Amino acid sequence: MHRDIATPGRTKEILDKYGFSFKKSLGQNFLIDPNVLHKIVSFAGLTEKSGAIEIGPGIGALTEHLARNSGKVVAFEIDQRLLPVLEDTLSPYDNVKVIHKDILEADVAAVIGDEFAGMEHIAVVANLPYYVTTPILMKLLEDRLPIDSFTVMMQKEVADRISAKPGTKEYGSLSIAIEYYTEAQTVMTVPKTVFMPQPNVASAVVHLKRRSVPPVAVRDEDFLFRVTRGSFVQRRKTILNNLQTSLPDGKERKAEIAEALGEAGVDPGRRGETLTLEEFGRLADALYPKFG
Ligand code: SAM
Repeated sequence: MHRDIATPGRTKEILDKYGFSFKKSLGQNFLIDPNVLHKIVSFAGLTEKSGAIEIGPGIGALTEHLARNSGKVVAFEIDQRLLPVLEDTLSPYDNVKVIHKDILEADVAAVIGDEFAGMEHIAVVANLPYYVTTPILMKLLEDRLPIDSFTVMMQKEVADRISAKPGTKEYGSLSIAIEYYTEAQTVMTVPKTVFMPQPNVASAVVHLKRRSVPPVAVRDEDFLFRVTRGSFVQRRKTILNNLQTSLPDGKERKAEIAEALGEAGVDPGRRGETLTLEEFGRLADALYPKFG
């Protein structure tokens, strides 16, 4: 067993060796606590038949734990300066591939097809760059990739929105999209002290288990999410008001929107934040013939 990368001493050593300076704009907060890494990896439920996808390996702190606990790791890193570092720190492992790419631009489906043949379980495990947490999750979920689970560190405030229930101030279109695609659970909150440099915000690890079938059947998924996003444009406004603003020619077509709300059994005076996924499903289906 090699010395863990994720200790303050070893991390400093590596940073000094390469003269590496953190880029805040890339969300670079590296983990320096091996206990947190052990926990993340155990929540991910990896086996030797798991293909692990990491977003942002940094200097390899989590990557080496994934390499030890899965069949193969593919890690996407945007920062070119980290490539020689990773080549060095991950040299003991022959089951890791680092791809120099922005995850938002990557063809993840092709990578899964090429790299994970024979794997029985595909898992995303990452300490995410916080500035792009939501776009990354939405891309990986909406692209309908064969990913079974996500075990990801994020800003606690985003974790709270992900697992929020209707009627709370954290509940919104992100909560609904995540509920549609996954079963979500916040498995751990993490203090700032386990990172170098320390972030300004609290963090949490969320486990998302992909559903095989969504909890509601709708005519058109993309339209469901147009309706949910459009229902939260201004949180304090009623759903009728928000849909008038967000649907095409909504102002002139108020009567049609009101009719669809009636058909779906949703009072037009309610706010978006009080509607369940099931109600949004009914509403989207009622609006679809008119606005889809
Ligand atoms: N996994 C390492 C750890 O836990 O110590 C580093 C995590 S750090 C929070 C986020 C990493 O994501 C950085 O290495 C950063 O360069 C990388 N990154 C930022 N934006 C990215 C993107 N769009 N695609 C891929 N990697 C990205």
